[in-house]
Amino acid sequence: MRIVSHRLGRQHRPVVERVTRIADEAGRLAARHARSSLGRVELAVTTTKGIPDLICAAHERIFGTSDWDAWHEQGVAGCTTIRPGGSLVVINAEANRGCLDEADMTVIHELVHAAQVNRRGMWELVARGLAHNYGIEPMSDREVWAANLRRDRDEREAAAAERLHRQLAKAVA
Ligand SMILES: [Zn+2]
Repeated sequence: MRIVSHRLGRQHRPVVERVTRIADEAGRLAARHARSSLGRVELAVTTTKGIPDLICAAHERIFGTSDWDAWHEQGVAGCTTIRPGGSLVVINAEANRGCLDEADMTVIHELVHAAQVNRRGMWELVARGLAHNYGIEPMSDREVWAANLRRDRDEREAAAAERLHRQLAKAVA
């Protein structure tokens, strides 16, 4: 797993150090939970404003377009999307600052989403949804309905994995 940092100041160093320390074990737990391998993951640690920077850079490479405002959300702890050839997991150092348990939970949650993206046909389905959102190629109502259903199910699966943070903390201690 490649780990990068973007737009970070010295005050965010504890979060970056924690994420770096737990990444591999969190990836193993997330993959086992989702019963899927992680695929090629880039894990980035950044600030609230850095999240749309990174997501848009990945989407520009896939679609030739993006929408910074659509990805800018105050207080969001993490986010996972597609990048060429794999997935991009972004952890918000500002939202997870000062509480490393919180950071552990966020990393596990987002890595479950990375494992979901790596399931057969999922990368393409995520791309299909983004192409719809960017106005490149609209989906039918039926496709939108199916995508929402799948998103809810994936969200529940990722949320259920957060409890593994205790096991993770023990494993890296
Ligand atoms: Zn989620």
